Amino acid sequence: MAEAIATVCPYCGVGCGLKVRPGVTVEVKPDPTHPANLGRVCSKGAALGETLGESDRLLQPEIGGVPVAWDAALDEVACRLRSVIDAHGPQAVAFYVSGQLLTEDYYVVNKLMKGCLGAANIDTNSRLCMSSAVAAYKRALGEDAVPCSYRDIEEADLLVLAGSNAAWTHPVLYQRIVAEKQRRPALRVVVVDPRRTATCDIADLHLALRPGTDAWLFNGLLSYLAREGGLDQGFVETHTQGFEAALEAARGAAPSIPAVAAACELPAAQVAEFFRLFLRTEKTVTLWSQGLNQSSSGVDKGAALINCHLATGRIGRPGMGPFSLTGQPNAMGGREVGGLANQLAAHMDIEDDEARERVARFWGVPTVADTPGLKAVDLFEAVADGRVKAVWIMATNPVVSMPDADRVRAALQACEHVIVSDCVRGSDTVACADVLLPAATWGEKDGTVTNSERRISRMRAFMPPPGDARPDWWIVTEVARRMGYGDVFPYRSPADIFREHAALSGFENEGRRVFDIGALKDIDDAHYDVLAPLQWPVNAAHPQGGARLFADGCFPTADGRARLMPVTPRAPVVVAGDEYPLVMNTGRIRDQWHTMTRTARTPRLTTHLPEPFVQIHPLDADLWHLSDGALAQVTSPQGSLLARVRLDAAQRPGAVFVPMHWNEAYARNARANALTAAITDPISGQPEFKHAPVRVAPF
Ligand code: SF4
Repeated sequence: MAEAIATVCPYCGVGCGLKVRPGVTVEVKPDPTHPANLGRVCSKGAALGETLGESDRLLQPEIGGVPVAWDAALDEVACRLRSVIDAHGPQAVAFYVSGQLLTEDYYVVNKLMKGCLGAANIDTNSRLCMSSAVAAYKRALGEDAVPCSYRDIEEADLLVLAGSNAAWTHPVLYQRIVAEKQRRPALRVVVVDPRRTATCDIADLHLALRPGTDAWLFNGLLSYLAREGGLDQGFVETHTQGFEAALEAARGAAPSIPAVAAACELPAAQVAEFFRLFLRTEKTVTLWSQGLNQSSSGVDKGAALINCHLATGRIGRPGMGPFSLTGQPNAMGGREVGGLANQLAAHMDIEDDEARERVARFWGVPTVADTPGLKAVDLFEAVADGRVKAVWIMATNPVVSMPDADRVRAALQACEHVIVSDCVRGSDTVACADVLLPAATWGEKDGTVTNSERRISRMRAFMPPPGDARPDWWIVTEVARRMGYGDVFPYRSPADIFREHAALSGFENEGRRVFDIGALKDIDDAHYDVLAPLQWPVNAAHPQGGARLFADGCFPTADGRARLMPVTPRAPVVVAGDEYPLVMNTGRIRDQWHTMTRTARTPRLTTHLPEPFVQIHPLDADLWHLSDGALAQVTSPQGSLLARVRLDAAQRPGAVFVPMHWNEAYARNARANALTAAITDPISGQPEFKHAPVRVAPF
């Protein structure tokens, strides 16, 4: 029997370790030694073995639908990018990549764009899931640095889950919370979510607030803590700035419990109970996710939440901290290498002259891009209006996942040069490609990923890629060489890239940035192969990694202090009205991942919720003449979809829920993001996916 190979699940940001035994039937089991899951696995991870196989795989490069050899395809991509840059300048080229890429893939594509091609137009689908949390952390803590570990969740006495249905979206983390709650019933759990989700099953208190009002709630909490003597004055005075302004803004917006209750449409007694729990429970971890991030004021919502932790000194200590749950397996690894359009590599700032000079010197290139590139929504807008003439899309399906998705599809169909690297054919974006590049996928390629708790784990190959599929880092490296950048793209393996990435993180860092894995810069191939999961930083001060950040109260800001940010809450940009009277919230379901290109390959995962649906409260269903199980048309100003009606009293009246997964290959006319508008947070650029006014009518 073949030996089991340790790797990581390719789905969510929990980053569970798996043991895979290759063979005719691939056996996938949880890795009992991996610190993220400690032997647990969810339905998606357990079914991974059934999603493998060549059916629907891209097996050969194609140009204009005609199969070609790799040399021809790589020459073609290099030639197209070069000719667009020569004719229109580097801003006419863009990359749109993915939190599904491995860190090594991400590193080389970011280097190619920002270090060689002369613009910073590389953004990622991580923009859609956690860029508001990134901006909130950066403004408050000085760096995009998640301060907590999963262990803190088990050491807390109060867990607040805000805008997170962890039971479905981070299932193994939720299993850990359930186990801890069973072991220690005194652990209190508060869920803040307009919808009663599966996560509420273990909640002591569920705050079903009015959609979009989270900042009122956390502002109200800050002003309550100040009134009730719940602040850590010593921490505030020694380790923070901006407290007075933040408190003034909080008091202005949410001066009292009745005011918060009115703004959030919650019973005042529930608000008071939450505030009292927070006041009395020092060991509090507040977890937040897309419910807060996917908003036109997502950065402010995160800031209001972080303010409460800074004002109480609940950060950097066991069982405490503001903890953003990352959606994708490697959203954090992408951030580490600068995979967002407004970042440089290794958590350096693209607008910092000194940082740009340092990175250029390290990379051995004359300059790096000196202005932020186009964020995801702006990037596709630039494709639509012709400013971007060549776009290379890797491992993601924006025709389904971007807001105003029909417009994105039309933009790609009209674009001169659409290059798509993917592993499958059944993606709506693949259908728009001029050049198709077959990519290796999970189980076929080596590299690293970083999960929600900053833990870097090795993703390991256990089978060869089918046909001519190749790893993304290899494809990008070969194109870079053909464009004349071979001297700075010397890579022969992912280990070569990892060493350079680690070296850059520690290069002239001298404590400036928390992200530092410089101690791994000389790791040899053999040690890279067996690298055990570990949390950054990994440097001289933390040779074995660090479980918790900011224990010393020092933050990576100019004066070493964290910043409380004043938050003036804002309602969603577009509100429900006569024509579109309901608010559509989009999200994930338990057994599907993203646009279903992998999870739909096994019946085990499609039986849970087999069809696109619109979940609606029975009172609303009566009002709009909808019956359970019937087909309905959901319409917004942007577009419409067909879905099965599911009556559910867990739904807040006035709001409906539609899953974001279905693409055209699995259900016609069911793409939720055909209905969402391209409205974004002004700081993070993250779209307002949770608040699309719609009408629902019998079909
Ligand atoms: Fe994979 Fe996430 Fe499930 Fe873990 S919780 S097995 S990482 S999908």
